[in-house]
Amino acid sequence: MKAFQPVDVAVVGGGISGLSCAFWAKRMGLSVLLLESEPSVGGCMRSVRNGECIADGGPQSIMSSPEFMELVEAAGIKELARTPAAEANQPYLFHGGRLVPVPQNLPALLSSPLLSLGGKLRLLSEPLVASRRSDAGAAEQDESVAAFVRRRAGPQVLDALVSPFVSGIFAGDPDKLSMRSAFPAVVDMERRHGSVLRGAVASRRAARRNGAVPKRRQSVGFGGGNDRLPAALAEQLGRELRTSAPVQAIWQRGEWLELSLADAALSRIVARSVVLATPAFVAADLLARFEPAASAELRAIAYSPVIQIALAYPRNAIGAPLDGFGFLAARSEGLRILGCVWNSAMFPDRCAREEDVLLTVFLGGALDPGVLAASDDELVRAAHADLRRAMKIHDGMPRVIAGFRWAKAIPQYDVGHDRKLKTIADAVARIPHMHLCGSYLTSPSVPDCIKLAKSVAEGLGRSLETRAKT
Ligand SMILES: Cc1cc2nc3c(=O)[nH]c(=O)nc-3n(C[C@H](O)[C@H](O)[C@H](O)COP(=O)(O)OP(=O)(O)OC[C@H]3O[C@@H](n4cnc5c(N)ncnc54)[C@H](O)[C@@H]3O)c2cc1C
Repeated sequence: MKAFQPVDVAVVGGGISGLSCAFWAKRMGLSVLLLESEPSVGGCMRSVRNGECIADGGPQSIMSSPEFMELVEAAGIKELARTPAAEANQPYLFHGGRLVPVPQNLPALLSSPLLSLGGKLRLLSEPLVASRRSDAGAAEQDESVAAFVRRRAGPQVLDALVSPFVSGIFAGDPDKLSMRSAFPAVVDMERRHGSVLRGAVASRRAARRNGAVPKRRQSVGFGGGNDRLPAALAEQLGRELRTSAPVQAIWQRGEWLELSLADAALSRIVARSVVLATPAFVAADLLARFEPAASAELRAIAYSPVIQIALAYPRNAIGAPLDGFGFLAARSEGLRILGCVWNSAMFPDRCAREEDVLLTVFLGGALDPGVLAASDDELVRAAHADLRRAMKIHDGMPRVIAGFRWAKAIPQYDVGHDRKLKTIADAVARIPHMHLCGSYLTSPSVPDCIKLAKSVAEGLGRSLETRAKT
């Protein structure tokens, strides 16, 4: 049996969470080994290049944040980071059979066709709706996004505005998704100000008083494909990364943790600390022998399926202006697709030829789990039919550049998620030197995964310093 030198930290899972954690831990001077089960890193950040187009699987663009930009710079790929032109940041909603720009403020919403007069009056009466803070028992209870929005702003705001975003960001079901876990800042506004609208005005005023100009966060992509970020982190890790190395079990050996791989006859890994940066259901398996309660809660975190299809069209076949980020569709509009990102409008390098455009369509989500059973042909036909309707596409069929079938794409922050996380955190704290990071813990967004991964790495750095002193 081949034994590796003990390392300070073994990180399990080479998606963006594990890569960031291992990268920062290495920068802090810890000896690190990252183990990824697949032949390549990136998890759900993958790109396909076919000479004609570059198609991104997973995130099409990433919202900039200080922690994200810090990592991009440290990984040495700042010059590859691209922000779309301001006009290409405009998102649309498919509503009433046409594309309507998403309003960026209340006056714009009130003059948009997204809500009827009744819907607008109901929204404006939001400050008059009794808040849950007046009922201490109810305020403690978690509530679904649908229940919260219907209660505060009315059913039209839910159907026309919120539900499409819940599908687009969480691939979720608004009747199941937890308001407190998915949109904590909005719940906080109700708690502190008794109204979301009053809370939004108050935070705008406070920002102005402090001299801060409220800015829209920029989306960022990478020249050559969004998998440049995981690839750069993998390169920096060098020999401290092993791919095609699925961890099958972890054992406590005195002060150490031992990891066995699928090829257990050949290798075992001994580490002072382990970070599980896998999806929740894999962490559930690896923790089952340590803490069955945590394992059960991890397994109970549902994941929605998402299918992405990248389609190239001749530019002159598209009737829509392509002056934005793309669109999301309300379910009531009768499209099967959840939405579509206009990749080449945001990042022109996604098509080699100026006369082509690249569009990525999203299907599936919690409300369409049957999507996984559909054949590739069926899905392409459904995508094309919906795009023809929404974007006024004429002429022929598109060229399929890539398809990504994510059977378990996005963790669902369903009602009760915070209680699950508390049980998991308490149980994992009882396992010496075991840590978690990943998209099911704070938010699925890439910047939030990176932020959490860095804080886990910092914690490891501090505990090593403490151990060195004692
Ligand atoms: C379709 C889609 C669209 C998205 N769009 C956006 C977006 O626009 N913006 C945004 O910010 N975010 C987006 N996200 C979310 C974001 O991409 C993810 O939340 C994030 O990439 C998750 O990273 P992770 O490292 O936590 O998990 P993962 O990427 O799932 O990585 C986990 C890794 O663990 C590995 N692994 C599993 N089991 C083992 C084992 N036993 N041993 C070793 N390794 C193992 C897996 O192979 C994988 O590489 C999107 C996600 C999807 C799926």
